[in-house]
Amino acid sequence: SPYPIRLRGRVCRGFGRGGKDLGCPTANLPDDEDEDEGNSKDERDGGSKTITNGNRSGGRKKKTGVQAMKGKVDTGVFYGFARVLPSDPSSSPQPKVSNDVHPMVMSLGLNPFYKNERLSAEIHIMHEYEQDFYGMEMKVLVLGYIRPELDYVSREALIEDINTDKSVALNSLARPDYAVFEKDEFFYRDD
Ligand code: ADP
Ligand code: MG
Repeated sequence: SPYPIRLRGRVCRGFGRGGKDLGCPTANLPDDEDEDEGNSKDERDGGSKTITNGNRSGGRKKKTGVQAMKGKVDTGVFYGFARVLPSDPSSSPQPKVSNDVHPMVMSLGLNPFYKNERLSAEIHIMHEYEQDFYGMEMKVLVLGYIRPELDYVSREALIEDINTDKSVALNSLARPDYAVFEKDEFFYRDD
């Protein structure tokens, strides 16, 4: 089994394909290559001060592993846990964003922006956040597969499937064997 799969990255803007309109905002992990851009992207996302980001990333390549999943798992919908990391203490005002580990559903698909040659991961976290967290660091622990990607004829059918995905995820994660993953040291270690 390829699970658990551990992913991380700075949340970036998506295509605005109406995640929020559907009552299901999805936070995008950056493409592995994009992580190199560092400062320019941080500014675009309204992240914390350039010098802070420069220090933190140090220009070193951070692999989120999104592309590493290619060939190991099918595209589709997955479940697991996610955590938005606390922002840098020097950034003010401090965002009111929960730093707890929450259940999530992830859609893994081929990215049309890269001619469908690269994977993209969108994560809906099952928690009501008080504000958006673009530019913040997110860690994701993928634990299992729910279903393949489908083409939807109607908005209603899509919303219905999203709701089914959420309950499948919550039911799976409620199993005692999964409790340990909510506390996985990956969520709390500095690296
Ligand atoms: P985009 O196309 O930019 O991804 P979305 O409509 O999918 O736009 O909204 C995603 C954004 O919403 C995330 O990047 C995040 O900042 C915010 N957000 C708020 N609540 C959540 C949540 N529960 N799960 C995921 N993202 C959330
Ligand atoms: Mg989205």
